[in-house]
Amino acid sequence: MSIEVSNITKLYDAQKALNNVSFSIKKGEIVGFLGPNGAGKSTMMKILTTYLQASDGEATVNGFKVSEENKSVQKSVGYLPEHNPLYLDMYVREYLSFNAEIYKVKKSEVDTVIAQTGLTSEAHKKIGQLSKGYRQRVGLANALLHQPEVLILDEPTTGLDPNQLIEIRELIKSLGKEKTVLLSTHIMQEVEAICDRVIIINKGEIVLDKPLAELSENKQQIVEVEFDYRVEEIALQRLDKVIEVKNIKGFVYQIHFDTSKDMRAKVFDFAHDSGLKILQLHQKNTTLEKLFIELTTQK
Ligand code: ADP
Ligand code: MG
Repeated sequence: MSIEVSNITKLYDAQKALNNVSFSIKKGEIVGFLGPNGAGKSTMMKILTTYLQASDGEATVNGFKVSEENKSVQKSVGYLPEHNPLYLDMYVREYLSFNAEIYKVKKSEVDTVIAQTGLTSEAHKKIGQLSKGYRQRVGLANALLHQPEVLILDEPTTGLDPNQLIEIRELIKSLGKEKTVLLSTHIMQEVEAICDRVIIINKGEIVLDKPLAELSENKQQIVEVEFDYRVEEIALQRLDKVIEVKNIKGFVYQIHFDTSKDMRAKVFDFAHDSGLKILQLHQKNTTLEKLFIELTTQK
């Protein structure tokens, strides 16, 4: 196991931020740690990276105990904190070289991580001049410097615009081919886009832990589509397996299908046959969305 969490509890004074949390993550898995704000995601990640000590329980990373072997744990883990502190006045390459020295990593690793995170064209710029998406790449490059086996990324896409979001997700996915990744998010679609497995946490307790493949059995889906012109809802209702069609704003429609088969191609064909252009098209897995709402809203 890359990460093994056993009965971790964390108290901040009297407040219980984590209550008897256990889960394990296999080598090579990309796991989404999903939960609303205040659920305990960052607290768990800080314990796994040894920045915080648990009040009770034990966790191991790469076989090393977080309570006792913090140096070995830190060597095994690349950590992107939630509010990643960067020196805005430093140049990208200078910042990474500076950290390479601190971590006692070979200088040649700086070029490796710059290439790995797609920063080559920005490496000569000051961090303060970069877009938020590129700053996140610098944070990721920094987390990769010592070529750790496990990556722990705390809300790596929060605050990014849609294009940056897609780019960073792609980057995380490609890093996940070689590494074990635990990433936190409060966005369900993110988990669907990147992860093999989802762990949902609410109020300090794990409420779901499942491979995504199991969630996608017998599910329904919503395809959200924006056309360049008005469409009669009744025309969309004639598509195969449609349950409901909603015009949510302007020329944006939500089409609810009763099938797990990806229906985006059908919607595309419909647009083509009707002489319409598609401006946006995405698909949502309603099971995960429903589950998340069910599991994390107060009753
Ligand atoms: P998440 O990352 O899921 O938003 P956190 O782990 O940051 O959640 O926080 C979990 C709970 O612990 C929240 O109620 C938060 O207010 C509380 N908390 C987090 N850090 C501290 C701290 N340093 N001192 C006291 N309470 C904290
Ligand atoms: Mg957090």
